[in-house]
Amino acid sequence: MAEKKNIENEMPDKDEAIKIFEPVLSPEFDVFRNKIQAITKNAPQLLHIEGGSAETRTSFAHYYAALFFCQTPEACFQDMEKEFAYGDLIKPCFHCAECYKVAAHMHPDLLVFDSREAHIDIDSMRELKKLANEPPRYAKKRLILFLETQKLSAFSGNAILKVLEEPNPYNQYVFTMSQREMILPTLLSRGFVMTLPWKDPIHELTDLEKEWEQILGKFFHSGSGLMDKTGTKGTIDGEIAKIICGILQKNFAHAMAGRNDYVLASMFSAIPFHHLFEANERVVLCYEMINLMVNPTYCIESLLTELFVYFKKIGLK
Ligand SMILES: [Zn+2]
Repeated sequence: MAEKKNIENEMPDKDEAIKIFEPVLSPEFDVFRNKIQAITKNAPQLLHIEGGSAETRTSFAHYYAALFFCQTPEACFQDMEKEFAYGDLIKPCFHCAECYKVAAHMHPDLLVFDSREAHIDIDSMRELKKLANEPPRYAKKRLILFLETQKLSAFSGNAILKVLEEPNPYNQYVFTMSQREMILPTLLSRGFVMTLPWKDPIHELTDLEKEWEQILGKFFHSGSGLMDKTGTKGTIDGEIAKIICGILQKNFAHAMAGRNDYVLASMFSAIPFHHLFEANERVVLCYEMINLMVNPTYCIESLLTELFVYFKKIGLK
C-alpha cells in the first residue's frame, strides 16, 4: 500500500481491516465464492480476476489470500441446489491472526501492489524480483497481488512478465482488472481467468461520470467543449482527473470487447486494437502523473488534446 504502516504504532483496527472481505460475502457472490474456494484447491500460478467492480475484485483477491493463509479455516457446506458443486471446500475464518494480517497487508508472505495507490515502478519490480527468488518466510507459498492492472504501463507489465517467467514453485500471483482486454496478451495467456458478474455500467454511472462522458464524446467528435469546462479554475481536481481516466479506460475496454451500446465505446470501436492499446498507455501515463501530484487540469488537458490529435491522425470520425 502507498501509506507506510508502522507495525508497532499503527496497527490498523481489526474490525476496520476485515471490512475488505465484506463485498465478497454478499449473497450475490455465493457461486463465485465456491468457485474461488475450488480454485484454491489446485491453485494456478497466475489467477486473473475480471468483471464486477474494483471493490469486489479487490475483495475477492483478499479472500483468495485469506484462503491461502488462514490458520483455522472452516468447512464450507454448499447449498447443493446451487449451480456449482465442488466437493469439500473450506472458507477463511476471518478471526485468526493470519486473516487479519491479510486484510491489513501485514502478512510477510503476501505482497500487494495496488496500481490505484502507487505507480508500479522500477523500485517495486526490484523488490518483487528480490523476494521472488527467496522462499516464503512462514507459509508454504507466497502470494503476490497486483490490483487493478488496467493501470499498469506496458513497461511494468513486461517487467512482471519476466519475473513470472522465472519458475519458482513458491510464488503464486493474482491480477485484478476491469476486463481481460486491458492487459498485455502475454500476461493474460499465462493465467486462469475468473469472471465476476458485470455490472450494467450505464445504470451505475454517477451524474458526474455521465456529464464527463458527454463532454468527452463531444470533444473527440468536434474538438470543442473541453476548455469551457477545464477553463474554470479548480474544476478538475485529482479525483475528477482520475474519474476521466477511468471513463476512457472503461470505454476502450468496452470497444475492445465489442460492447458498443455506450456512446464513447461505439465511437472507439472504429479504432484498431493496437491503437486502443496505445491510447490506453497514454491514459496510464496521465494517471501516473496525477499520482505524482502534477497539476490535474494540466494532465487532463494534455491527455485529451493528445488523444484528439492521435484519433484524428488514425482517421476517427
Ligand atoms: Zn483465519
